[in-house]
Amino acid sequence: MPTVGSSRVDDIIDKIRVSGGRVTQSRRMVVEMILGQGDHHLTAPELIEAMRAVDPEFHESTVYRVLERLTDLHVVEQVQVHSGATVFHLTDATHIHHHLLCAECGAVTETKGTLLDEVAAQTLDQHGFVLNVNSSTTLLGRCATCSATAG
Ligand SMILES: [Zn+2]
Ligand SMILES: [Zn+2]
Repeated sequence: MPTVGSSRVDDIIDKIRVSGGRVTQSRRMVVEMILGQGDHHLTAPELIEAMRAVDPEFHESTVYRVLERLTDLHVVEQVQVHSGATVFHLTDATHIHHHLLCAECGAVTETKGTLLDEVAAQTLDQHGFVLNVNSSTTLLGRCATCSATAG
């Protein structure tokens, strides 16, 4: 997968090692696959489909097992986007982002981590409430595609 910034793959591979995990071929493939996707958000079935496109022998259960282990190692994180759908993304302290979730088609768009800074300033000012902006937050709405086709 030469299109993927390999240094980022290596950073994540290092993180697996530092956390005491073994770096297996399938773990590396899953990491590369998530990074290779446009917005780095995949459901398990999407990931399985992508893995199978590369290697038809790839087992569904392997993908689930790898995702489980990578979640334990805090390399990937499950984001509950709406009832029934779970997407996986890579956790990356240097790249905190929030999610814009389309309530109609379930598409997840990544938006910058500073998006809620202004909101956080206001909740602090008005309510003394410290908003947690250091972890991913999901905002619900309707994506551009669905908005365009609606009505
Ligand atoms: Zn994400
Ligand atoms: Zn949509």
